[in-house]
This record gives sequence, structure tokens and C-alpha cells, in this order.
Amino acid sequence: MRRSGLVVWAALRQVQAVARPGLSTVQLDQTVREVFDHFGAQGVFEGYPGRTPFPAVSCISVNEELVHGIPSSRVLQDGDLITVDAGCRYQGWCADAAVSFIVGTPRPATQRLLQTAQQTLRLAIQAMSRAQRWSQVARQMLQFVRQQGYWLVDQFVGHGIGRHLHEKPDVPNVPPKPGNPRGEFLLQPGLVIAVEPMLNTSTKEIRLREDHWTVVAADGLPCVHVEHTVAVTDQGVWVLTGPPSTEEERRWLRQQGFSHLLGS
Ligand code: MG
Repeated sequence: MRRSGLVVWAALRQVQAVARPGLSTVQLDQTVREVFDHFGAQGVFEGYPGRTPFPAVSCISVNEELVHGIPSSRVLQDGDLITVDAGCRYQGWCADAAVSFIVGTPRPATQRLLQTAQQTLRLAIQAMSRAQRWSQVARQMLQFVRQQGYWLVDQFVGHGIGRHLHEKPDVPNVPPKPGNPRGEFLLQPGLVIAVEPMLNTSTKEIRLREDHWTVVAADGLPCVHVEHTVAVTDQGVWVLTGPPSTEEERRWLRQQGFSHLLGS
């Protein structure tokens, strides 16, 4: 699953490297597709069942779009906040991650929202290494987001992941109500989950667009979704969609032709 996670990392990193005002979101989706193809990995979003099957390899959501945005001819403008969410199956195992970033010149308000979302995901990953149960992690996420003055969307959940993109358990971003067993589970070695906080600016409410995929913030204001695939192991928590962290992983990515993503 780590190799699959590195493929997703490379695809999202490549998108960030090429994204700029003037490109369309479908061009960014094409970049994700090229990276997956290069590794011989299969995108697991394309064809995902819905009212109509999802038509692209990645979900690209701009500004007030929160999740499941369909890549299109929409052209990125200076200062747009975009989320690119992608998942693949590589040698039989899946990984799923989302990055958010600002194209061109950031506006302070948007940047603060983005940074808060990134901090929320980091906080959740750190909390996973200490907590026994998921609800303890979700409680910390909710508390942090509210302290920062934003809203955590509770109508979508993260998920277990493995051979398939969506497996048990559901991974809610807010703690379950007392007495509700759904959304509570033990954080024990062997568990792999996609952790995916979604932050809105002034409400937790969302709406579904007429395309039956794109979810937008009900306040029409910028919103952010960030995600990592995270494993609980005997040695601690492992971010499977994080950047390469060993010489062996860097060597593999260089051999695959991605040395330009590795920095100096
Ligand atoms: Mg996911």
C-alpha cells in the first residue's frame, strides 16, 4: 500500500508543479492520468457508480466547491483555491489522498483557511498515534476547527481502504453522538484509513449541484478538503500517501522518472 501511496503522492505533486492560472481543471486531471498510466496504476475514481458514473480520474474542486468536483473546461484564475483528490490501485492495493493549494497569488483569508485545514489533518494524524479510539481523534479535529472559527463538514466521512477504495470502517470527521456505535472503532495495528477533513468558512451545510457529483459549501465561500491514507502499525502511524522518506523510496521514484519531484 505504501507503493500505491507513493504513486498518488507523485501524481498530486506533479499536478501542483504544473498548476497555474490559465489551465483548465481537465488539463490537471490529464496530468494525474499520465502519472498513473506511467506507473501502470489504475485510477479508482473513474467510473465510480452514481447517478452517472464519475467521468474523470481525479476530483477537482475550486473555491466554493468542497468535494467531488468534475474536471472540466473551467479555467483556473489567479488566487483560486483548488483541491485535487485522487486514488489509484497499484499491484492490487489502493491509496487515496487529496491536496489543496492556491493557484497564483494567495489571498490572506483563503490562505488561513487552507493552512487550518492542513493543520487539522496533521493534528488528526498525530492524535492517531496516541488515541485508542477514533472518536478521540475526531473530537480533537472538531475542537481545533471550531477554535479557528471554521466549520467541519459532517455529512461526508473518510473510510477504510485496502484492496478496495472504500472499505469498513466509516471514518467521520466529528465524534459520534453518545450511544451511536457508527463511527467508533479501535486504532489498532493493521488498520488503514483515509482521513479526510473538510472545512467550510461560515457553515457546515453543503449542497449538491445539478451534475449530481459536485458538492459545494452552502455559504458559497471557499472551502477545503485534504486527505491522507494512514496506516496504524506496531511501530506507530504511517502516512502512506506522504512524501518518500527513505533512500530506497527516493531511488524507486528516480528510477520511475520522477527525480524532479524529489527536490535537491
Ligand atoms: Mg477518500
